[in-house]
Amino acid sequence: MAATRSKKTTPSRKKPARRAGFTAGRIPKGGANRPQNDIRGMIAMARRARDFAFAPFSRFKVGAAIRTRDGRIFTGCNVENASFSLTLCAERTAIFKAISEGTREFTQVVIVTDAAKLTPPCGACRQVLWEFAPDAEVILANVRGRTKRMKMSALLPSPFDSRDLE
Ligand SMILES: [Zn+2]
Repeated sequence: MAATRSKKTTPSRKKPARRAGFTAGRIPKGGANRPQNDIRGMIAMARRARDFAFAPFSRFKVGAAIRTRDGRIFTGCNVENASFSLTLCAERTAIFKAISEGTREFTQVVIVTDAAKLTPPCGACRQVLWEFAPDAEVILANVRGRTKRMKMSALLPSPFDSRDLE
């Protein structure tokens, strides 16, 4: 019966309504059709990537996962260096891996740390993510299961991008 219900009908309260941004039309082609599980899966993948973080200097391990528009997921971890400025964040590791595999459109980014206060992407990562994923949703998560969902446009409200070079 539920399957035949019109979309205009008030949704049942027995099951929570899908969150904004996860209506069927916005699920990437080729992606699974259970977005909530997809997010959990992405968080799990980012957590596993975090285990590979090379962070002997900050001891702040970060894992990331990024979903391409065609449903593939690439992960990354932070990679530090004794020459500190050469350090690469997890988000940029993930997106550069994806771009080097021939994809340039992304719908979601997950960032996982063990911090109680959820960790947003740094300014450099916001700028790089904006280049390829200005419409992406960014999911901040920690290893205790806390999550927060944001849009790139909220993280970088006044971006510098190719339009400024015209
Ligand atoms: Zn960063």
